[in-house]
Amino acid sequence: MNDGTTVSPRKAVVIGAGIAGISTALYLQRDGHAVTVLDPEPPGSMTSYGNAGLIATYATIPTATPGILMRVPKMLMDPSGPLSLRWSYLPHLAPWLLSLVRNSAPDRIRRNALVKSILLNRAWNDYKPLIASAKADELFYAGGMLRVFRTEAAFEAMKTRELGLMDITGRQYELLGVDEIRQMEPGLEPVFQHAIFSTDTRNMRNPGRLTELFAADFTVKGGTIEQEAVTSLSGSADGKWRIGTDRTEHNADIVVVAAGAWSTLIARMIGLRLLLDTERGYHVMLSPPTPGLNRSVHFGEEGFIVCPMEEGYRLSTGVELAGVDAPPDYRRIRRAVGQATSFIKGFDTIEKSIWMGRRPSTPDTVPILGAVPNRGGLYFATGGAHIGMTLGPTFGRIIADLVAGRDPGVDLSPYRPDRW
Ligand SMILES: Cc1cc2nc3c(=O)[nH]c(=O)nc-3n(C[C@H](O)[C@H](O)[C@H](O)COP(=O)(O)OP(=O)(O)OC[C@H]3O[C@@H](n4cnc5c(N)ncnc54)[C@H](O)[C@@H]3O)c2cc1C
Repeated sequence: MNDGTTVSPRKAVVIGAGIAGISTALYLQRDGHAVTVLDPEPPGSMTSYGNAGLIATYATIPTATPGILMRVPKMLMDPSGPLSLRWSYLPHLAPWLLSLVRNSAPDRIRRNALVKSILLNRAWNDYKPLIASAKADELFYAGGMLRVFRTEAAFEAMKTRELGLMDITGRQYELLGVDEIRQMEPGLEPVFQHAIFSTDTRNMRNPGRLTELFAADFTVKGGTIEQEAVTSLSGSADGKWRIGTDRTEHNADIVVVAAGAWSTLIARMIGLRLLLDTERGYHVMLSPPTPGLNRSVHFGEEGFIVCPMEEGYRLSTGVELAGVDAPPDYRRIRRAVGQATSFIKGFDTIEKSIWMGRRPSTPDTVPILGAVPNRGGLYFATGGAHIGMTLGPTFGRIIADLVAGRDPGVDLSPYRPDRW
């Protein structure tokens, strides 16, 4: 349907009701397929609930930059640092971490940034039809993303690390000084000397509610969402997939695994090894300050971000390598709240709520997107990591194109699910 071609309707099951799964379900549904989404949790209630809500077109920078290996001891010693790693999880994480180190070489960083920028460039266009259909326009504003720096040293380090990469990948940005920062954000304390402003970044006022609205649009149009956890997955002689859950069994022609950080467990059910782990991140919700901010602001030295949202101000931060199951460690996010009061005028530190989420992350920071070779009808749409909220609809549109036999307009070889 997307380009006027006829698609033969099939039975599809999407595993996971985060932004990746729900967007995929919507794009498959637009082609006329009968789609069921399976998730033990309500739509948009996991990682897609609590992120910073940025259509993060600027974000081609990887988690690991050159020298990451030297920083591992510090990551282990300081659990409240910007990048932290738990001792107990180290043996499990070793292959992922080694690959992360390999991907921190400058040529790999460049290649991975280019691969991601291809998806980022189309992200907003892939969002638009879903927003229009769900009547969710009021959840977006075009505020851009302002990253501010107090010190010359941090600003220069950012420029050295990132500007070359941003230019190669065609990111849009402006470098700003003291006066421009003050004009744009009078609600910031006057301590910031420099900023980089990503002009084309869009902002969501509530990513969780957006995913819920998309899910509601999907069910209104005849889609099914079942609150079930997938426990087994296997192909059968009749060419169909059997999907066992904690409640029942489903059959489908098409299966899309979009289970975020848990996709590794689903992949294991069919003997596929994904090098996918989780970079956990945190947020705290706070009351809006006066006069407040006009857009999302990232604090360069400290590495946290503050976003004005529908239900208050969201301060988020953290990359914690500790697996999906370990209990949260709120020390770093709470420290960041204390710091934010000296950067934002009238900011109150009373915590309205606190949250931890699990980014589905690959060590090359490249998503896992496409068909599994020799497993007809099986697809993956995950690994969005820091840009997973941005890329959900792009994942969905590309998967729907593959299912329909249309050209997705992207060479998918770098994203292959079987690349490890
Ligand atoms: C602090 C923080 C800030 C962030 N900020 C941004 C941002 O500004 N912009 C951006 O683009 N991205 C951001 N991200 C990343 C983004 O939130 C994620 O990449 C994205 O939400 C992942 O979506 P998903 O659908 O893949 O996973 P999820 O939203 O986690 O959904 C996966 C679903 O799979 C389900 N599932 C698990 N196991 C099973 C099973 N066995 N059977 C059925 N279902 C199962 C889970 O219950 C879950 O609902 C941020 C992340 C964090 C933590």
